[in-house]
Amino acid sequence: MIRNDHVRFLGEGAMVTSRPLPDSKSVVEGAFMDVASAFKNFFEGLKTGKKRGYPKFKTKRKTKPAFYLASDRFEVGDHWVDISKLGRVNMAEKLRFSGKILSARVSKTASWWFISITVELPDKPVESQPLPAVGIDVGLNRLATLSTGRQFENQKPLRTLLKHLLQANKRLARRVKGSKNWYKAKEKLARLHYRVACAREDLLHKLTTEIATTYGFVGVESLHVKGLMQNRKLALSFADAALGRLLMLLTSKVTAVGGTVVKVDRFFPSSQLCHQCGWRWKEITLADRIFVCQHPQCRWQGDRDLNAALNILNEALRLVGQMDQVVSAVAATTP
Ligand SMILES: [Zn+2]
Repeated sequence: MIRNDHVRFLGEGAMVTSRPLPDSKSVVEGAFMDVASAFKNFFEGLKTGKKRGYPKFKTKRKTKPAFYLASDRFEVGDHWVDISKLGRVNMAEKLRFSGKILSARVSKTASWWFISITVELPDKPVESQPLPAVGIDVGLNRLATLSTGRQFENQKPLRTLLKHLLQANKRLARRVKGSKNWYKAKEKLARLHYRVACAREDLLHKLTTEIATTYGFVGVESLHVKGLMQNRKLALSFADAALGRLLMLLTSKVTAVGGTVVKVDRFFPSSQLCHQCGWRWKEITLADRIFVCQHPQCRWQGDRDLNAALNILNEALRLVGQMDQVVSAVAATTP
């Protein structure tokens, strides 16, 4: 198994930028590797029909500054890393994984420098203990609702940060483009963006780790992320980005421990159907938070997202055709 650990440098900025390029051999080597993978992606994209752009040159202003380091060009210690020709730089955290260090990449995000170290770890034996199945409804209002009734709210700090983000955006727009104050405002905005991303990542990691360690079978809606991304509202576009990332993290974590993720078609009417009897409420709107079944023999009532999560679970199990073999984790609902 190959893992990456992303660690921030301490007292970094001046230290890294004021010195000459750390190691010309590694830097050149890394650039060639990058161009090779860019061309590979481009040609594979042509073959498979997925659109990928022709490789572009880096630009000083737009490209994130970064360089590659081969494993013989640096040494990692406790809270520090020795980079050849650059010297010892302190890290904000220790390396989390112990294993064979393969390579590293140093990069700059919002005026902070980071090192991402790739480590090879021995594969853990996959536990074959059967874990229950779960359905997840992902949404814009509430981040996720599980078919067990567990709810994950969007974090409040994120909303406060988004407000600051809007202000920083306005401030940047009022500055003269290219001026010193414009660069200062831009820097501030970049730092805020980074903080929002960190807050979001934290929440998503906690959610996906919990699901991957508790459930062996996960039903989730596939999202049309590209289509969703087209809306203009800042808060909404962040939520969209979070949904795409959530699916990605979930899939990788669940499959890493031997679990199964089944994606239900995004046109499946998960919020319109009653999960108990299949009665369909076609006119349900986003404002209807409670699902009320009108079928005379059923009359189930409950949270709309919980109903959707249960539908997603049922549909995922139906798709796999193992309805009886999986122990379902469902909320005790009263009809
Ligand atoms: Zn019903």
